[in-house]
Amino acid sequence: MQFDILTLFPEMFYGVLNSSILKRAQEKGLLSVNLVNIRDYSTDRHRCVDDYPFGGGPGMVLCAEPVVTAVENTLGQSFGDQVSSLPEGTRLILLSPQGPPFQQEKAFELARCSRLVLICGHYEGMDERVRLLLKPEEVSIGDYILTGGEIPAMVVLDAVTRLIPGVLGESEGGSEESFYSGLLEFPQYTRPRVFRDLEVPEVLISGDHGRINEWRRKQSLLRTWERRKDLLEKADLSAADQQRLNEALRK
Ligand code: SAM
Repeated sequence: MQFDILTLFPEMFYGVLNSSILKRAQEKGLLSVNLVNIRDYSTDRHRCVDDYPFGGGPGMVLCAEPVVTAVENTLGQSFGDQVSSLPEGTRLILLSPQGPPFQQEKAFELARCSRLVLICGHYEGMDERVRLLLKPEEVSIGDYILTGGEIPAMVVLDAVTRLIPGVLGESEGGSEESFYSGLLEFPQYTRPRVFRDLEVPEVLISGDHGRINEWRRKQSLLRTWERRKDLLEKADLSAADQQRLNEALRK
């Protein structure tokens, strides 16, 4: 999958792209990331890309021209008055606190694409004509304000890359991860068996995979009930799961 990330701070991505799973995905040829510096598209002789807001107010506004030109050059198509459709499998995304919240379902949806172009805002915001001309979809990573779209872009990049077939090894992550099946994951333990008087639950060292799976499912249901009842309401539990949850709650 190809990511094009349009940003004023490409250097912020070097750490995440050169570590862990994102690094390995690139080495395996499953992920390719093109960092585009929006400043390279400034027509100003000082490479300035921001200006004061019309109407006054605090902060600076990212100008429309360098952002729109950077997108046009990256995609090799122009965006004028008429709606310019994107090639099949390509999505244009503006990281914005005003978009719908990014959730696992969206990550699954985006992982089916072949190319994602992410636009990172900065400053007080960006000239509204970027939205009007490019008509990007907007994605927020939560109801709070960050300095720029770089960290949100890293969140999308990481969550989507994990879902590209072949990126994760067999022992890394799977269908039980929190949110994948609509529930939170069960508690995990590793060695030693006893740590500061806290023992690993006996069932996990029993070697009985039927019992282990049953325990994990119950824990997963219980955890979701305790922490995220909203997820349980959407989960549409089977009769067996409802019984497991009732049993877990009785203990
Ligand atoms: N004044 C803007 C507003 O109230 O909507 C926020 C501007 S914010 C300081 C600068 C940039 O950071 C935004 O253009 C966006 O790209 C990014 N950003 C900030 N918070 C975000 C969030 N929760 N999700 C996604 N992007 C965010």
